[in-house]
Amino acid sequence: MPQIAKVIVDVPTMQTNRPYDYQVPDTLLDHIQPGMRVAVPFGKGDRLIQGFILTIQDQANFEGQLKPITAVIDLQPAVNSELLQLSSWLAERTYAFQITCLQTMLPSVMRAKYSKTAQLVDEIDPALQASLFNGNDELTFDQSLAPDKLKQLMHLQRQGKLEVVYHVDDRARVKQLTAIEPALSFEQLEEARTGLRKSAQKQQQLISYLQSLIGQPNPLLKDVLATTIFTRENIKTGADKGWLRQVKVEAYRNPYPKTVTTTQKMALTDEQKRAVDAVVTATQNQSDRVFLVEGITGSGKTEVYLQTIDAVLQQAKTALMLVPEIALTPQMVKRVKGRFGDQVAVLHSGLSEGEKYDEWRRIERKEASVVVGARSAVFAPLENIGVIIMDEEHEASYKQDESPRYHARDVAIWRSQYHHCPVILGSATPSLESRARAQKGVYQLLRLTQRINQQPLPAVELVDMRVAMKQQASSNFSPALLDALKDRLQKGEQSVLLLNRRGFSSFIMCRDCGFVLQCPNCDISLTLHMDTHSMKCHYCGHEEAIPRTCPNCQSRQIRYFGTGTQKVEAELQELIPTARILRMDVDTTRKKGAHAKLLKRFGDHDADILLGTQMIAKGLDFPDVTLVGVINADTALGLPDFRASERTFQLLTQVSGRAGRADKTGAVIVQSFNPENYAIQFAKQHDYEGFYQYEMAVRHRGGYPPYYFTVQLTISHPEEALAAKKSFQIARQLRPVLSDQAIVLGPTPKSIARINNRYFYQIVIKYKQEPQLQAKLAEILETTQIDTRHGFKIGLDNEPLQFT
Ligand code: ADP
Ligand code: ZN
Ligand code: ZN
Repeated sequence: MPQIAKVIVDVPTMQTNRPYDYQVPDTLLDHIQPGMRVAVPFGKGDRLIQGFILTIQDQANFEGQLKPITAVIDLQPAVNSELLQLSSWLAERTYAFQITCLQTMLPSVMRAKYSKTAQLVDEIDPALQASLFNGNDELTFDQSLAPDKLKQLMHLQRQGKLEVVYHVDDRARVKQLTAIEPALSFEQLEEARTGLRKSAQKQQQLISYLQSLIGQPNPLLKDVLATTIFTRENIKTGADKGWLRQVKVEAYRNPYPKTVTTTQKMALTDEQKRAVDAVVTATQNQSDRVFLVEGITGSGKTEVYLQTIDAVLQQAKTALMLVPEIALTPQMVKRVKGRFGDQVAVLHSGLSEGEKYDEWRRIERKEASVVVGARSAVFAPLENIGVIIMDEEHEASYKQDESPRYHARDVAIWRSQYHHCPVILGSATPSLESRARAQKGVYQLLRLTQRINQQPLPAVELVDMRVAMKQQASSNFSPALLDALKDRLQKGEQSVLLLNRRGFSSFIMCRDCGFVLQCPNCDISLTLHMDTHSMKCHYCGHEEAIPRTCPNCQSRQIRYFGTGTQKVEAELQELIPTARILRMDVDTTRKKGAHAKLLKRFGDHDADILLGTQMIAKGLDFPDVTLVGVINADTALGLPDFRASERTFQLLTQVSGRAGRADKTGAVIVQSFNPENYAIQFAKQHDYEGFYQYEMAVRHRGGYPPYYFTVQLTISHPEEALAAKKSFQIARQLRPVLSDQAIVLGPTPKSIARINNRYFYQIVIKYKQEPQLQAKLAEILETTQIDTRHGFKIGLDNEPLQFT
């Protein structure tokens, strides 16, 4: 029976965001499967484009003429049936195009690349053929083709002498190496030997060597040349005589070639054992329960993950472990590879495209059964998953900030339901959303309250900068912090200094009393807008003048807050001239591998002080670091975001965990203009539970997540007035479908109002239960499609994590 394929085409627009029917040519009937990529003619010009087959159906009632599929790009499905289903769900959940979702799941090298060639179909003047086609009858052409040549081509096309052909290439290339293989049997080789002269010693030896290879894996040519007496000429002679063949073998680019020392299971503490048992029982029962492991820093969460993975592998299942990009350090990879060796595949942005593709194929071919990776690894093509682990589950980097705007946690939970396996969310400072779900019993809470080494958590000293500024040593360093730094220097111990740059420069603060201007309606900081010379609230649009004196203490020391790492480094060097300082920020870590190099230098005691931005807060484990200083704890508090306190608490807790990892006790010094702030106070006490309770009350009062769901609409246009007008239009369309419970904030201009000459407005909807909302948002996206032709861009973010 004739068949039709439903194909998602690579045209990311709203109109084309649906499957198209294509006829399956008879020649492909037996080969084609869902999940394969195909080249199909599309649109009026029958341009060849790439697409993914969703389903194949018998073509029962045939109506009209369907276009046929032109070619199949894959020999086997690029996306398996689970991931096909996931792409549909993801598209709906994130308001993204399904083609974008499908492409997000694949390594970037597998994304389509198109090329066009002009092919001669008739004879032309030989001189023209020589000049235009270089004597060939085909020419690849793109935008770089000279206009006069293009004209000549157009002319030929009009004469019917030329055809344009589109090619869909697959950029994925397998790296190949040459190996050698005996071409004859043992006896045949022996026979060949008898025909040789006695003096042909090298050839005699080659025959013996080839005989020894029979039944063995074929060695790589480069290894043969490096480890045997045979030269390239000898091998060529062997090939010419028909004794051996040179064959191409696939090579994987191994990003971690160094052998990793194997580690053994540790005897678990009672708390660890309870956690492992709970999860392993769930794996045995095929339960898709979500566990929240709330464990203080140093409580041995990683060992819990490793032993759970071990149990899952023994059940002949696979395991997926997600870590934030920034925590995916060589140290972390070593810990997992040390336990599970070559079964581990690693996926992160530090790998080249080729390396990523190789790791991906190892997973797909079931050569790797444990995957460790950053956000996008959540799409790893593992089958038969036994557990999904998400370390540092509160990290904002798990949310992708471009389409599809997915959160890896949601995808992890979707996949766990598909595979009937549990999920572990781990953190010392769980997100409020996750902790609240554990409170309600949606997740199961497992707490690790003890540090493995029984060391107390480091003491945190708060320095009141309002006071310190009056004793004035410098603008960024209090006497207490300076003294502590000098003390460590003298003892030959190391220090880590954090300069928090998030939220930086967007708010103003009083140096005398720490006052930060807040929105009277929303409980969040007002943002400084230099273009309008005003303070604005990004949630409700409230606007007021920039204060000249502090509304709280009337001081005139109220101003913009912020400084750069370079400046702080120079200042510190002047204050402590003998200190060797390493600076780690976006500037010093831009080059590939620079981050690891800096860390290694610090580990080798090449420096006394590591000064850096947030990127130093995680994953570092240096035994000789006994002091952690936070230069400006307030910047995170100044974020125009209802999660400002949560971020501050998380950051301070994390950075405190860097001190005193080994047997030396560590100290933490936090400088703040608001030392009495609750986030800072709870962090000082290492009291996550206390913070959670308090913050939940704040969220309840303000009507924020986890009590409300949120969705954000972003509207932009090169002309500000148009962006504003469209935003208000959209807001007006929304209100009628919403209940009284829903709150629409905005439209308001975004803090960085103009990026790439576009003006951005946002609308935030807070809601509990709005059955009509999703459909309405989809409809808005659909009806505003026409506006995108006039320069508008409209984006939707479900549960946004970024409000700036
Ligand atoms: P967390 O991730 O919770 O901060 P880690 O997993 O880094 O903690 O563990 C802290 C240290 O304790 C690590 O050096 C780890 O090797 C060690 N450790 C973990 N579990 C045990 C155990 N059961 N026995 C001995 N040492 C352990
Ligand atoms: Zn003040
Ligand atoms: Zn407001």
